[in-house]
Amino acid sequence: MNSKDTRTQFLNFFKGKEHKIVPSAPMVIKDDPTLLFTNAGMNQFKEYFLGISQSKNSRVVDTQKCLRVSGKHNDLEEVGKDTYHHTMFEMLGNWSFGDYFKEEAITWAWELLTEVFNIDKDSLYVSVFEGSNDADKLELDTEAFKLWKNIVPEDRIIMGNKKDNFWEMGDQGPCGPCSEIHVDIRSKEEKAKVSGASLVNQDHPQVVEIWNLVFMQYNRKADGSLESLPAKHVDTGMGFERLCMVLQGVQSNYDTDIFMPLIREIEVITNSEYGKNEENDIAIRVISDHIRAVAFSIADGQLPSNTGAGYVIRRILRRAVRYGFTFLDTKEPFMFRLVNVLTKSLGDAYPELKEQKQLIENVIKEEENSFLKTLDQGLVLLDTIIKNTKGKTVDGGKAFELYDTFGFPIDLTALILSEKGYQLDEAGFDEAMQQQKNRSKSASVVSKQDWEILHEDNEQEFVGYDMLDVEVKITKYRKIVSKKDGTQFQLVFNLTPFYAEGGGQVGDKGYLEDSHGDVVYIIDTKKENNEIIHFAKNLPKHLGESFKAVVDKKQRSRTEANHTATHLLHQALREVLGKHVEQKGSSVHSKYLRFDFSHFSKMTAEELREVENFVNARIEGHLQLQEQRNVPMKVAIDDGAMALFGEKYGDAVRTIRFGQSIELCGGTHVKNTADIWQFKIKSEGAVAAGIRRIEAITGDAVKDFHIDNDMLLTKIKDVLGNTQDPVKSVSGLQEENSNLKKQVAELLKDKAKNLKGDLLSELKEVNGIQFLAKKIDLDASGIKDLSFEMGNQKDNLFLLFGSEQNGKALLSCYISKELVASKNLNAGTIVRELGKYIQGGGGGQPFFATAGGKNPGGIDEALTMAESYIK
Ligand code: ATP
Ligand code: MG
Repeated sequence: MNSKDTRTQFLNFFKGKEHKIVPSAPMVIKDDPTLLFTNAGMNQFKEYFLGISQSKNSRVVDTQKCLRVSGKHNDLEEVGKDTYHHTMFEMLGNWSFGDYFKEEAITWAWELLTEVFNIDKDSLYVSVFEGSNDADKLELDTEAFKLWKNIVPEDRIIMGNKKDNFWEMGDQGPCGPCSEIHVDIRSKEEKAKVSGASLVNQDHPQVVEIWNLVFMQYNRKADGSLESLPAKHVDTGMGFERLCMVLQGVQSNYDTDIFMPLIREIEVITNSEYGKNEENDIAIRVISDHIRAVAFSIADGQLPSNTGAGYVIRRILRRAVRYGFTFLDTKEPFMFRLVNVLTKSLGDAYPELKEQKQLIENVIKEEENSFLKTLDQGLVLLDTIIKNTKGKTVDGGKAFELYDTFGFPIDLTALILSEKGYQLDEAGFDEAMQQQKNRSKSASVVSKQDWEILHEDNEQEFVGYDMLDVEVKITKYRKIVSKKDGTQFQLVFNLTPFYAEGGGQVGDKGYLEDSHGDVVYIIDTKKENNEIIHFAKNLPKHLGESFKAVVDKKQRSRTEANHTATHLLHQALREVLGKHVEQKGSSVHSKYLRFDFSHFSKMTAEELREVENFVNARIEGHLQLQEQRNVPMKVAIDDGAMALFGEKYGDAVRTIRFGQSIELCGGTHVKNTADIWQFKIKSEGAVAAGIRRIEAITGDAVKDFHIDNDMLLTKIKDVLGNTQDPVKSVSGLQEENSNLKKQVAELLKDKAKNLKGDLLSELKEVNGIQFLAKKIDLDASGIKDLSFEMGNQKDNLFLLFGSEQNGKALLSCYISKELVASKNLNAGTIVRELGKYIQGGGGGQPFFATAGGKNPGGIDEALTMAESYIK
């Protein structure tokens, strides 16, 4: 069965059991401070497990793009070396939110695998949580054990420990026992020799876990204790690529139709062959895996960069490039050429790839180019390090520097060293790495207390589209401590007018006031697990009472003007530049807005002007806000609203319309475009290959901008002697300046000519050599010209000139070529030696060389010493 059909059958099987098929959440996570990438199917449903909100559907099925390269789940080092761990993979999952529990989960999983997919029952093993003797004191999962016993012989049920059979999302949060399903794909003969049961969870490449059924029944609290969740849930995850391996009867995920087309393309591009040599095979697997991770991230809007998620992506791409570089001898960008094949095989299931193919290719190609340059530089630096190494062990700290500041991969360093007969001081490297980790860890460490519940309230309501102050109650709060922000308190209200940071728009600020007149400032508002969290430096005194919650109106209205202007800017860019323009990032503040978009070239001054005019025309047109809440997604799209790649939308969306501009948007906006007052672009530039950035301002900021410019102009006029036409004055000055420069150059030439005559007459003969050592007032190039001209007129010349320019000393030595040969003189050696008098150094050719130094006081002494070279 091919992979496309496998995916569809999985979804349809659970659809038949009344599950709603939902789309994959983006792989790159934008609004969760605890997680950079989706690493399991359950991430997008956290809020339901935590009981923060209720899912509309209690049964859901999906396939989720996952990336396991950082944090608690990190498989990066395994990838390529084994045949069943990927960085990016698809996780198939069925979900019950407080609906069915272990019985259905187990029975259906078995039915799907053995009756729909027809996997041989005798090749399957299942595991059950055996309980734990530690502080948690958990019992054997007898419920799951009994259920499995009804289905499989007892010797196929394996007791699993906490590490394998108790699933936890992180240090805190929902968790519970799980049952895994493992499959043994070895040959009959091998199975006869060694039992599959003994190989389960032993990292055997042909006895692998394919499905994990997690039974969420606890919440792990901050103090480490467990409490029962009010409702029990099912969270399952099956590795799609592993399932396809089993169903396609192959021994490696890479031999499936998911990876084979990529591998074939790599073979062609790199002129290599898969399956001939383990080192090459690893490289080919790494590349075919990493291209997926990188392409999907870019499609989700995450570009490679120097920080956060972008840095993780950059490192993955570099790892692949480096494997190609070392093992497949690729010295030119090549990864970008794989995007075509990838798009062909996954573009139907994930249209974001297809629609952004060009952009993905551009970004990857540029990134490859710059890394290849880094590799070149790194190789040179490594050579220097080796040259300066005494003995045969290269300092680990130096290697770390190369890795840390230049991005030069450490395994490549080790490889090159061993090829040259050196070794790497690995302990030193590890220590330097550890020190750096400790530094960054202590900077970001956050401790969170458990929530203190004040009022039970099942769902918090956001009322800030319509109201900016409203009476609220605090439903829960907790203390958090981080090195960066110190102690803060997080507050959740029963309802709130505060907008939480999201969709590019900053969070609201404001204050809480109680009936005693006590005030606590809200310094920021953010979302966590879809819950609006208010940040305060202090805790209100009368926690249980009601408060007036007031949003800072000025900041809010300026931010709104910038948000609406962003929509108009988006529309303008698509009108002026074309429909290829897509939003790639947006950041809306009270003082400015920033907008990233796909476009291939620098915008011209005319285009910028046109875009500005387009937006300002709509501001002058006094367009009224038309807002619709809870519109079905499909209706909104049919209306012309554009969904952005990498954003998560619910079934019902909010649309914001100003004239012809329609966007899906959760942000806050002006009531009428007239409130924006005016729009001005401040800058336009590149952020990456094919991605541009505009920064712009609106309202008062434009006024201030013009006032500042006006003041600047007044000052300029003033400096130019109160001219009415500064452009004319400056052009006049420029012309005058260039004429003067020409005159000075002429004068200098004359001076040099006269000087030459004088100097030739000053030559003195020493041992048959025409000798002169003298201090003159010319710059380096003047002295050089002069020396060579004198050389043209006189043979057997030895000149040493000293000069002082801007407080620095210069020595310059000229020796006729015939002298160099006959008297074995070398200007380079001479200036290097004389350089010590002027506290400097230099070098050059045997017939001409210069030295610079910081001590002009030593010039005379150097000149005196010159004669000793020819005596
Ligand atoms: P393993 O022990 O094989 O690393 P896991 O215990 O980390 O697996 P889970 O976190 O339970 O796996 O994830 C659920 C399923 O996702 C697994 O049963 C497996 O089929 C699949 N899976 C997990 N990690 C990867 C990966 N890196 N690449 C491909 N599939 C994976
Ligand atoms: Mg794992």
